[in-house]
Amino acid sequence: METVKLYEQDAYRTTFSSVIEDSISEKGIFKIALRETAFYPEGGGQPADQGVLGGVKVLDVHEKEGVIWHTVSEPLPKGAVVDGEIDWVRRYDFMQNHSGEHVVSGIICSTFGCSNVGFHMGSDVITMDFNTPLTWEQAMEIEHRANEAIGRQIPIVASYPSPKELEDLTYRSKKELSGRVRILSIDGCDICACCGTHVKNTGEIRMVKILSVQNYKSGVRISMVSGKRAIEDYGRKHEYITAAARLLSAKPEETPAAVERVLDENGRLRYEMAELRRRIARLQAQAIPEGTKVCFLDEPSVPARDLREIANALGERAKNVMVTGENDSYVIKSAQNRARILLNALKENFSIQGGGSEQMVQGVIKGEREELERLFRAAAEKVQE
Ligand SMILES: [Zn+2]
Repeated sequence: METVKLYEQDAYRTTFSSVIEDSISEKGIFKIALRETAFYPEGGGQPADQGVLGGVKVLDVHEKEGVIWHTVSEPLPKGAVVDGEIDWVRRYDFMQNHSGEHVVSGIICSTFGCSNVGFHMGSDVITMDFNTPLTWEQAMEIEHRANEAIGRQIPIVASYPSPKELEDLTYRSKKELSGRVRILSIDGCDICACCGTHVKNTGEIRMVKILSVQNYKSGVRISMVSGKRAIEDYGRKHEYITAAARLLSAKPEETPAAVERVLDENGRLRYEMAELRRRIARLQAQAIPEGTKVCFLDEPSVPARDLREIANALGERAKNVMVTGENDSYVIKSAQNRARILLNALKENFSIQGGGSEQMVQGVIKGEREELERLFRAAAEKVQE
């Protein structure tokens, strides 16, 4: 027998009592069917409800051929009458986000003459796919109109039109429908076939915020949040921007320009620093007697990208050079074309990544620097014999 869907009659119903019509156990998973239920089964892009039934946890809910199956944490006996309570915080969040999706999708589809070809409600954001391109500016215009519709507190009404009435009705639908069709109407925004649970008027959506518009297949994928999620998102982002602005000694609205200035300054300093390092390397090289066999230099604050140039400068005086830098980076330069052999000689005692040519190798080497210098010098002395 088909389960009576209390959530369709009243989406705000959180508690109920019902008799267990069927109780099954499959490989340690317990499922029960009730005469009637307020638990929404996963479907139409909306996740299943969770909650408590007869004192045990409801982990998942699915509909199969009109029967709603509740996956529960412990077995419950057939014939028993049980009390159920849905996790209202979770459900109301889905209701706000599902209704927000209808408002936004309805406005997008009527404005651009496109279809909504995908919908997923995640625990962080909801995503909607449309088969038309959409710019960020267009999406922001849609968001503005959606938030205006929210302010107007438009009733969200479910109805079950007759087949004849359906024929004359223009409504959105993601798939071919048969049997009794549930139509959800939001005057001026959307008419759509939907089995989900919704808030009773758009005011309860509170706000929608589009977070991203990405190209997807021949159209776009939009990420969005509504309701409490959107308000919390705004709160978090306000915290982030205020913290960033404080660090930059800027007003929040000046933060992007201030970040740009810091990045420019950073780039300039980086360039100057590299130039100074080159000069120092040349001076260090001048101090090395011509024809020196081995040179080892540890420069723990020098970034990997600047090591080559130092090794080149030192390599003009010394035959085999190793320079180590920031984050365990290294470069070995060999005027005797022994760079790889020298690197291999170190492999026994150190964990090494990277490679290169016989003239120069570079990468990451982990281990104690004094020991590294000792072994490198020993290996370089050896290759010259
Ligand atoms: Zn829907």
